[in-house]
Amino acid sequence: MLYSLVSLTACAKTGGETAGADDKEYLPAWQEGFLDIHQISTGRGNAALVIMPDGTNLIIDCGDAATSGATEHNEVLPVLPNASKHAAGWVQYYFRKFAPASVNSSTVDYALITHYDGDHIGSEWEPDAVTLPNYGFKLNGITELGYYMQIDRLINRSDVSDSRMPANYRRYIEEYRDERGLATEVLRPGENNQIRMLHSPDTYPGFGIRNVVGSRTVWTGTGDATETLPATTDENANSCGILVSYGPFDWLSCGDIPGTNPATDTETAVAKAVGECDVVVACHHGYKDSMNREFCKSTDPQLYVVPVREYWHPCVEAVANMCDETIHSGVPQIYCAGLLASTRATMEEAGFGKYFMKDGHVVIRVTDGGKKFQVFVLDDRSDDYGIVYSSGVFDSRD
Ligand SMILES: [Zn+2]
Repeated sequence: MLYSLVSLTACAKTGGETAGADDKEYLPAWQEGFLDIHQISTGRGNAALVIMPDGTNLIIDCGDAATSGATEHNEVLPVLPNASKHAAGWVQYYFRKFAPASVNSSTVDYALITHYDGDHIGSEWEPDAVTLPNYGFKLNGITELGYYMQIDRLINRSDVSDSRMPANYRRYIEEYRDERGLATEVLRPGENNQIRMLHSPDTYPGFGIRNVVGSRTVWTGTGDATETLPATTDENANSCGILVSYGPFDWLSCGDIPGTNPATDTETAVAKAVGECDVVVACHHGYKDSMNREFCKSTDPQLYVVPVREYWHPCVEAVANMCDETIHSGVPQIYCAGLLASTRATMEEAGFGKYFMKDGHVVIRVTDGGKKFQVFVLDDRSDDYGIVYSSGVFDSRD
């Protein structure tokens, strides 16, 4: 429930000398005990940064896809905030800005790759992909981020023997396993300690990350038990997903799992296991084959976050369920990590404009042991990350 508005003036100026105009406000620095979840808007695909209450960090995806596969309305966002870096360069820049220097702002503790599509890992076939002498792989997306920054543990939906793993990504893993000690693991659905706090976990017993789904194996919601859905070669349906919980607060993010075709529906099983959440990252960017009515009704979040890179993120069909007040406890809000003006216009024409808040980098800051949270939207058109919107304080639901 949203119960009070907090003035922007409550936010400290932390932008330093490069902050720009004096009237800008900046996200106050992370503090021990905060859970910060950033959906980063690079214009090129998904990237999220989770800072756990003890400062352990987790990157989820680092995509770099320049074009839309759509035959109409194939507009895409530009590289954000500008083309002076590739998406991975901006993710590194963002990481260094917001990961706490007091704990670790130089290395990635965990990187979770939800699945193998270019808007989640990059591709050797992108025009921006970089070839370096003496390297067996090209730099783009997660392989480029891995070149810039030490990644300690890389978690995938499958191992390198899986023929669905793109060859360039496999070469990166094999080369860096030897050269940089990159540790890789396969996500183990159902478990709640594969991704865990590394510094002071005993201080925050209410925090945990549950592996909900990966390669069609879905947590049942009871203990660590799982069920296996019928196999499909649909890459999206094989996405990994996790549930991040902190006290009563729950945040769900499941890559590009679909939910409208019975042969590939993964959302319904996930929703049955997970139940009510506070924040849900829209599956498959809110595309029309995702966010089915049962998924929205069961998870019943207070707000949705939509990772965007093209016009069809999100689609009216999905948004109709996400905004349906008859299946939600309150009036849901939609925060888009990037958004094309043409998509916003479409949503307004369809009567959904009032649910769409400001777009940019979407930061969920969870405090008070998970009892409260607030949303900050940061400017994705400038590298000083000024706040363009800050929400009131939400109470997490039990
Ligand atoms: Zn995607």
